Amino acid sequence: MASTEYNSVVLDIEGTITPITFVKEVLFPYVTRGLDAFLDRTWGSDDLKEYIQLLREQAHQDVQNKVSPAAVEIPTEEKSSAAEVKDAVKKNIQWQMAMDRKIGALKAFQGFMWREGYKSGELRGEIYDDVVPALDRWLTSKKIYIYSSGSVPAQKLLVGHSTKGDLSKYFSGYFDTTVGLKTEVQSYKAIAQEIGETDPQRILFVSDNIKEIQAAKEAGYQVVISDRPGNAPLGPESAAFQIVTTFAKIH
Ligand SMILES: [Mg+2]
Repeated sequence: MASTEYNSVVLDIEGTITPITFVKEVLFPYVTRGLDAFLDRTWGSDDLKEYIQLLREQAHQDVQNKVSPAAVEIPTEEKSSAAEVKDAVKKNIQWQMAMDRKIGALKAFQGFMWREGYKSGELRGEIYDDVVPALDRWLTSKKIYIYSSGSVPAQKLLVGHSTKGDLSKYFSGYFDTTVGLKTEVQSYKAIAQEIGETDPQRILFVSDNIKEIQAAKEAGYQVVISDRPGNAPLGPESAAFQIVTTFAKIH
């Protein structure tokens, strides 16, 4: 495939190195199912207070912006009992997760819960079997990066506590949507600049998402589509690109 040698590899997570089901069937339910017990366990800690404050500020904005269905506001402890605050936090998180929101305050809270799960060993980031051999191959001569819409702390937890062990030694950097949306050409240009690659042709991007692939291609990257079990079906636009079902096929 590669017409030019590449120096850097940028990898998507969901649908590329990790099954989409891990996020939908493990990570998200971990939050929704464990929320009550987690809040009881961590209630009153400074960390939790910070995350709740972020949710509170977001909820306030959501009410002002008349987000529909209506946002659940979170009162302050000065004005309400701890039980009322806790109840509002639960309802707010359930409300946001039911909408599958990708907003900073929610992602930060989810990451806070996942951190505990990863550290205790209850959560382990699921990585496809063919990924580590490819990382080993690349590591000798290339830099490897992650670009995912999950927050950078959540990315680090997933690869740092994975079913294949701690993979953090492989990665030279992590990017999330603070660099820009994954479907925008500008994001890939910004990443090329940040990793110091003046020729974007020297970067290989692997993702399951055709819009991301098209944006990276337009930014000048080499691209490969990852087609994994459980991914969304690929449309006719994908025929213009190399499609692999295993990283063993990426050379
Ligand atoms: Mg993906």
